Amino acid sequence: MKNKLKTTIGALLLLAFTVIAPMHAQNKVLIVGIDGCRPDALTAAQTPNIDKLIKKGAWTMSAQTATISNSGPCWTSMLTGVWFDKHKVTTNGYKNPNLAEYPHFFHRVKEQKPNLKTYSVVNWQPIHKILQEGDADIYNDLSNDENVTRRVVELLRDDNPDAVFVQLDEVDGAGHSHDYGPTIEKYLAAIEKADGEVGAMIAAIKDRETYRKENWLILVTTDHGGSNYGHGRDIPEHTTIFYIAQGKRVKKGKIKHPVNVTDIAVTAMQHLGIDMNNEWNLDGKVSGMKK
Ligand SMILES: [Zn+2]
Repeated sequence: MKNKLKTTIGALLLLAFTVIAPMHAQNKVLIVGIDGCRPDALTAAQTPNIDKLIKKGAWTMSAQTATISNSGPCWTSMLTGVWFDKHKVTTNGYKNPNLAEYPHFFHRVKEQKPNLKTYSVVNWQPIHKILQEGDADIYNDLSNDENVTRRVVELLRDDNPDAVFVQLDEVDGAGHSHDYGPTIEKYLAAIEKADGEVGAMIAAIKDRETYRKENWLILVTTDHGGSNYGHGRDIPEHTTIFYIAQGKRVKKGKIKHPVNVTDIAVTAMQHLGIDMNNEWNLDGKVSGMKK
């Protein structure tokens, strides 16, 4: 009888812990952007880590990026939550971005929650031209995707990040050198390498000592596609992107509504508990999350 009582109390405590604990979990975000990765090629490649995210997560292979499908305008739309008519980045030269009105979402995070730790780790350095003083700890002297991944794994292991943006560049490099598409072997091989890097970052999250007290949202996406050794045009091969969201708050399955590259900043901010002001005039919306 005593044992039974003990078991019952134990079960109740476990239940209370599992119900209450997530409410107090610290919400965190990892965004991994795989530069120039076409969704049809992602589907054709052997990507066990990304496949697992898709299986457990919310996803679409028909999201849309900017009609000027170059890295500068597309990454800026992803990270500000608005299109280039507002942020004004229309080339990879990043001339005069309208940061005062449309800053990187880390800027909003820091304004409302200055204690949150934000990191931006990229291979392609111009992405950081839209960061302002104090927006994030940045790493950009990394030269290849392996170094990017190693740095991300280290900071997930040794530090306490709340929001991490990562850009891997080598898939786009393979597209420019060997062409883009689901039948180009060297392009698929680059995607498969990137999948391993995504897997290493996810493993580092799960290895965190505090993982059980944390509620990670993992977003994996790309800035644009490509064809004929390039990109930049307003054609489906260049503007169709994928969006994958995984975490406890995600609504599992294929996302039925249209998803845009601008949704990433907004979804990340919502997960981090940022109070989004209508005056910010954001174009993105929350995608793939439960109501
Ligand atoms: Zn790009």
